[in-house]
Formats: sequence, structure tokens, C-alpha cells
Amino acid sequence: MSKIFHLLVGHLIDGTGGPIKRNVLLSVEEDCIRSAKEMRPEALAKVKDTAIEDLSHCTLLPGLVDAHVHLTMSGTNDMQFRQKQLTFGYTEAAPLISKHLHQHLSHGIVAVRDGGDSNGHTLRYKLEDPLFKGYPIHLKAAGKAWHAPGRYGRLIGRTPLEGLTLAESITQENRQSDHIKIINSGLNSLKHFGKETPPQFHVSELKAAVQAGLEHHLKTMVHANGILPVAQALEAACHSIEHGFFMGKTNLEKMAEMGRFWVPTACTMKAYSEELPAGAQELDIARQNLEHQLDQIAYARKTGVLLAVGTDSGGLGIHHGASIVEELKLFIAAGFSLEGVIQCCSANGSKLIGLSDVLGEIRSGAAATFVITAGPPSCLPDALNKPERVYVNGNMISGAH
Ligand SMILES: [Zn+2]
Repeated sequence: MSKIFHLLVGHLIDGTGGPIKRNVLLSVEEDCIRSAKEMRPEALAKVKDTAIEDLSHCTLLPGLVDAHVHLTMSGTNDMQFRQKQLTFGYTEAAPLISKHLHQHLSHGIVAVRDGGDSNGHTLRYKLEDPLFKGYPIHLKAAGKAWHAPGRYGRLIGRTPLEGLTLAESITQENRQSDHIKIINSGLNSLKHFGKETPPQFHVSELKAAVQAGLEHHLKTMVHANGILPVAQALEAACHSIEHGFFMGKTNLEKMAEMGRFWVPTACTMKAYSEELPAGAQELDIARQNLEHQLDQIAYARKTGVLLAVGTDSGGLGIHHGASIVEELKLFIAAGFSLEGVIQCCSANGSKLIGLSDVLGEIRSGAAATFVITAGPPSCLPDALNKPERVYVNGNMISGAH
């Protein structure tokens, strides 16, 4: 006998960006959604007589994707611990990674894309740690990110190997990675608003690097802020721009035309503006950076850029799991509807990380991976801080709520 169950939910956000549906009967068979049908009031009265579980006070949405995290780092503002976690050996890092994955799952996040750590601990954890075996979350890991000698990136990666080009280094070192991560600019300045840093690599190096990744069927994510670093990453046909602060309208238009993803990580600047001491000059710049990024997100939405939601969790004040709520709110502040931002955080995210066949939309035949939150959609995104239930492949995940 196959396992079948039925849930009646008050509202459904299906992940396609389409309108929210009312009174939906969701039927699950084994690990798949068999159907998701909107019920008319007459039919609803009959349904309530049966053994179907009544969750009509709840909203159901697809399992979410955080497309940019750093699992070896916590978002703590304890500066001593922040320093210490960078030097952790694998045995100290592994339990921290487990804890962070649990924090993601308990906010309805069922897939994360890691943007790198300097020791490659997260990739090792994914490949061989018994703690991860059977854990109900999709983890995609870059391993070590790549940065140019003398430039920003030591915290999350390494420079190309001695005597080898960036592309050759990728071919040699990224055999087991899920994607490639390249850093092609500096960080945002908190001293001078909008100050840009030069690209880290030449466009020909970037082109060869993206090509080297493609030869192993790997996509390339590029950390890039500022007009030129982003323009060069796009010229190299990278698959996603990470952060993209101050990239400008022309780059956004190009991204829409090329169908490339943007992961704006706006909550990083919100976190800074909350963590920095009152009156600090940096506080003011962080706020201006955030405002500018929200304007860029608004323009990207109008222009048709594919956006995915990523948080940069692990950065200062950016907590795994909880920060997705902040990022969703910022997309909404920039003009996205709730349905629209959930699409960015489900269907778009799963497409970016190569999981659209198993994740991202609530439709018949899709995997039964979804989140149920208390209350109507107006309680979102906050309701994700404590979902009623999280299901992965038809199984209710205990301890995830
Ligand atoms: Zn990052």
C-alpha cells in the first residue's frame, strides 16, 4: 500500500509567481504531490466531513532556497569567535555546519548554495561526513573560492595554484565541487559611498575559467560589485552575479537579455546598519548602500532580470535561516509581491542551482517538499521564523519547526 495523505490549506503560494490560491486540497502520494486543487465552497463543506487534515488556518509554499551562504561561519557579532571560526580545523567546523543547516531547515529552507570557505570544509562535509548522510537538505558547495593574489577573498578561498592559470587551477581543484566561485572585486566600501574596486581578473582569464567549469558541467558564480567587475563577469558569460552592488543599469539590462541570475544579498547592508555603533560614519554608508541596492532590485524586477534570494549568511549579523526573512522583506520593500519574491526564493533559486526537476513549484508530479506556515499570507515572511511544518519528499521533518 502506498502512503497517501491529504491536507486542506487556506492559502497556497505555488512558486510560479502566479496569484495566491484559496482553499486548496493537496494530495501527496509517497514522495510526490499527486494534486493541488482549489476547492469551491460547496465542495469544501463536504471535504470537512472526511478524514482530510484541516489546516485551513495555514499557508503552504514551496521549500525555499538560500542561494548564497557560508556554512562554516556563524553570523555572530562576537568578534573573537568570528576570528576563531576562520581557523577551525575540520572536526571543529563540522558540528557548526550541522547547526547552520538545521537553522536553515527550521526556517523552511530545503536547499542552500555555499559560496566557499578557505579550507574547503563545507565541500568535505557534504562529500563524506556521516552527520550529513540522509540529512533532508540539498547542499551545493563551491569548495574554496578563487581570488587574485593580494586581493580580497582570503577568508573564503585561495589564489590560483603556483604556475597555473585560474582555468587550469579550476580544472585541477574543482573536480568534486558543485559549482565554481570566483571573486572579481573587493568588498563594498563603508567609508566612501559607491566607491568601486578594480576587477581581480582579466576578462580573458574569466572566460577561460567559466569554460573550464562548463567542461565539467559546473556553473560559475561571481562575486562582483561595481560596473567594470560585473561587466567583465557577464562578458565571460558567468551564470550568476553575487552581490552586484553599484553594477548599474546597463549591466542589469545585459543580465535580463542574457538570462543570467542576480543574487543581490541586500540584507548584508541591513545587518551592518544594525550591528555598527550608532553615530559611526560607516552606519550611514551601510544605509545608503542598502537604499541603492533596493533601487537596483526595483529596476531589475521591471527589466526582467532573473533574481534569486541569497543572504550571505555567516557574515557579520547575518544569521543562517533567520536572514532569509530579512532578505524577503527587502525584496518586497523594493516592489516585489509576496508571490513574486517566493518565486525568486523557490523556482528561481532551484533553477539556478540545478534542482528545478525536484524543487521550486507546487504542482502535480513535483516532489512533496513544502513549508506550512501559520496564518494567512499577510503573516509572511515573518511566519517563516517558526513554520508549523516542513515536509521533504512527503516526510514531515521533526525538529524543523
Ligand atoms: Zn559570500
